[in-house]
Amino acid sequence: MLRMSRSGADETAGTEPLDVVRLRHDFPALEQRVHGHPLVYLDNAATTLKPRSVIDAVAAAYASDSGNAHRSVHALSGRATQQLETARARVASLLNAGEPDEVVLTGGTTDALNLVASSWARTNLRPGDEVLITELEHHANLVPWQWTCEQTGARLRVVPVSDDGTVHADDAEARMGPRTRLVALAHVSNVLGCALPVAEITRRAHEHGALVAVDGAQAVAHRPVDVQALGCDFYAFSGHKLHGPTGTGALWARRELLEAMPPTQGGGGMVASVSFERTTFAPPPQRFEAGTPHVVGAHGLACAIEYVQALGWSALRAHERDLMVHAEAALASVDGLQVLGSPGTRNSVVSFVMDSIHPHDIGTLVDRHGVAIRTGHHCAQPLMKRLGIGACARASFALYNTRQDVDALAEALRHARERLS
Ligand code: PMP
Repeated sequence: MLRMSRSGADETAGTEPLDVVRLRHDFPALEQRVHGHPLVYLDNAATTLKPRSVIDAVAAAYASDSGNAHRSVHALSGRATQQLETARARVASLLNAGEPDEVVLTGGTTDALNLVASSWARTNLRPGDEVLITELEHHANLVPWQWTCEQTGARLRVVPVSDDGTVHADDAEARMGPRTRLVALAHVSNVLGCALPVAEITRRAHEHGALVAVDGAQAVAHRPVDVQALGCDFYAFSGHKLHGPTGTGALWARRELLEAMPPTQGGGGMVASVSFERTTFAPPPQRFEAGTPHVVGAHGLACAIEYVQALGWSALRAHERDLMVHAEAALASVDGLQVLGSPGTRNSVVSFVMDSIHPHDIGTLVDRHGVAIRTGHHCAQPLMKRLGIGACARASFALYNTRQDVDALAEALRHARERLS
C-alpha cells in the first residue's frame, strides 16, 4: 500500500519571501483592465484565478490526450488514466492522506459533502441521532445535513458563533452527547475568516463516538492541510478555489469508512460485475466515481496543486498574513466601515459593512474602479442572522494580491462612500 508523505516541494520551498511581482505574470487574467482600471481581484474566496501552467495543461490535454480514463487499451486512454490517477496522488499529497485511494475525485466541496450525506449519513443515521454543525457554515455544509436529518429522523444541532466571532471547542462539546453521530464544520469561515479548532473539536467528537466532516473550501489554498494530524474522518475541498479548474475537487475519507459506504450513483466505472440479477461494486474510490470522470479537470487540479506547493506554504502564509494586517489598518481608515469578526482571527478573508450603504451598492461602485469583491449573504444566511445583517461585503486574498490591491480597495470604498452618503 502506497503511503505518501507531504510533498517534498512544500517542505523545502518557501524559505524565501513570495516573489509576488514575478508570480503575478503567471496569471493572465491579471493583465486585463476593468472599467478602465487594472483589475484588482479580491474575490478569491468565491473563486481563484488560474496560472498559465494550469491553463496550458488543460489546453494541451484537450489538444492531444483527450481519451477516456479506465476504459480503453489505446495510448490516449492510458494517458488519461495516468492523468487521473496522478491527480489523485497529488490531492493525497496536498492533504497528507494515508494513500491516494482514500481520495474520491468530486465536482467540488458541495459535491463531496453531499456524497457523505447521501451515502454515509443516509446509511448510518437513526431516528434521534444528532448531527452537529456550527452557526457559520456555508449552505453546502448545512443543507445536505438538514435534508439527511429529515430523511432519517435525526436531529440537527448547532454550535453558536461566540461574540468574538469564532467557534470554541467548549461550545461544541457542550452540544455533544451519546446521540451525536457526526460533527460537520468548516476549517475556515468564508465570511469571518476565522479558523475553527478542528483538531480539538475532532478529538472531543471522537470521545463521544462521533465522526467529523470538515469543509476545507476556504483552507486548502491558504494553509497546509494534514488530515492525519487533524484526525478528522472526512475532508472536502474545491479545485477552483485553489487555482484549479471549476468542476473539480475531492472528498478524502479514511479507507475503512469509504469501504463501508454505499455508492450514491450507479453507472459505468463504479462496478465490479453486472447482471440483471445483481450488481457488485468496485472498491473505493472508483465506487463513488460513476460515469466518465472529469479527467482534464483533474489534470488541471494536479497542476494547480503543484503550482501552490512549489511556492511553499510558509512563504504563502506570511504573505497573506501581511496582506491581512495591512487590510485591517486600511479598512479601519475608511469612515463608517465596520469590519466583522475579530482582529487576529482572519485568514485571507475580511468582511465588512458600511453605514447606510447596501453591500451590493458597495460592490457595484468598487467594480467601477476595477476592484472585484463579493457582496451578499455568502451562502451563510444563518450567520448573517447571527450578525444581525442581511448581507455584507467581503474581500478575500490569494497569493498574487499586493498591498497596492488593498489600498485600491480602500480608495474605491472611500469613493463609494462619497458617492452614496
Ligand atoms: N464551503 C465554503 C466554506 C465555501 O466558501 C464554499 C464556496 N463558496 C463552499 C463550501 C462550496 O464550494 P463549491 O461551490 O465549490 O462546491
